[in-house]
Amino acid sequence: MNVRISQFKDHVGKEVTIQGWVQGGRSSGKIAFFEIRDGSGFTQAVVAQDSVADDVWQKAVGASQETSVRLTGTVSAHPKKEGVYELQVSSMEVVGTSEEYPIGNKEHGPDFLMNHRHLWLRSKKQWAILRIRDTVERAIMNYMHEQTFVRTDSPIFTPNACEGTTDLFPVPYFDLGEAYLSQSGQLYIEAAIASVGRCYDFGPVFRAEKSVTKRHLTEFWMMDAEAAFVEHDENMNIQEGLVKYIVRACLSECKEEFVILERDTMPLEKLLTLSFERLEYDDAIVRLNELGSDIKHGEDLGNDDEGLLTQHSDVPVFIHKWPKHIKPFYMKIDPENPARVFNNDLIGIEGSGEIIGGSQREDDYDLLLERIKADGLSPEEYEWYLDLRKYGSVPHSGFGIGLERMVRWMSGTEHIRECIPFPRLVNRIKP
Ligand code: ATP
Repeated sequence: MNVRISQFKDHVGKEVTIQGWVQGGRSSGKIAFFEIRDGSGFTQAVVAQDSVADDVWQKAVGASQETSVRLTGTVSAHPKKEGVYELQVSSMEVVGTSEEYPIGNKEHGPDFLMNHRHLWLRSKKQWAILRIRDTVERAIMNYMHEQTFVRTDSPIFTPNACEGTTDLFPVPYFDLGEAYLSQSGQLYIEAAIASVGRCYDFGPVFRAEKSVTKRHLTEFWMMDAEAAFVEHDENMNIQEGLVKYIVRACLSECKEEFVILERDTMPLEKLLTLSFERLEYDDAIVRLNELGSDIKHGEDLGNDDEGLLTQHSDVPVFIHKWPKHIKPFYMKIDPENPARVFNNDLIGIEGSGEIIGGSQREDDYDLLLERIKADGLSPEEYEWYLDLRKYGSVPHSGFGIGLERMVRWMSGTEHIRECIPFPRLVNRIKP
């Protein structure tokens, strides 16, 4: 009977067949031990020379790293480790050989690994990160549906940008001139809220900014959410709920992955019991200066500032109500302080940096038109977006969460390039 390694607990004492790859192995005298990976998990397969036919033994001692195999044997519970199972092999079939697999147990440099990304994905750590990514993606979608958001995907080819075209990748588009790869679906899902009330999109977005950091990809996945009749504070509540939901999903579904990554889960468990901090931008600047940063009022927070603000924090921090002049035209002005807008960045803990950017949107036609003009953008290009304020405009808010930023934080990975199967960076587009 074919089973997957993750199902072993239900098959103790029974004969099963598994199909996978040889992750590693060693033989000592008359016993060969292999670590087998089948995608669902890892197990040790034990081949005893005395209990198998000679050809099986020969295949076993000859199986090199990454040989693909079909193994039949009996599942046994590890004598000492609870929840760990082994396969006592009775027969073995080689499906595909693997000669001189380039990635070994020795240390390889990041460039070598990135050039071999197509193979590097098979390593245990990458396996764990891929699975955490899957968990985060599912958690995002489940939470949004529980909160009655409807998935409403937005286009990737766009005629203009949310915030101007400088950070966009242009693409020739038939006789219509230049299109751009989307950097956010926000404007489009703002239109969809008047149909479905609350909606989200989830897909790849593209940023042509030349940011060479451990937190920037040129192609990354973003979930944009938008909700009618939701204002600034409630917008932050939804974001806090989302982050906690993702953390809870990872803690419950990714135990094995966290062990492989040697990730201490205490900080994640702790934040679930607390409320996130909400710090106005003005207060954040004062606090940063006290902590030794030379940031000036009116500047954007750098990576170091985000780290400084959260270094001793048990919870993520919302930095909200930023100066209007450094933020895009669509953010709603705070009527009590017209120099500020109702927006927020959410900074994660453990050095994870900005995870979410959100805001209440300007819902007044005249104010929005004025801001579009003031930003040097063309009102004609935004005619359809302005229409949304002409026909039944409502207060509404939304946010965008970067999938790989969240995966980087959850998995405790230093560089974001490991948080997407095939990363696209300023200086890398292969494999
Ligand atoms: P940053 O200041 O970190 O460059 P941003 O302010 O440009 O980010 P937004 O435009 O608000 O980010 O995008 C929403 C979210 O998308 C961010 O909070 C982050 O999680 C993610 N994100 C933004 N840019 C990138 C990128 N280049 N690579 C990966 N994720 C990103």
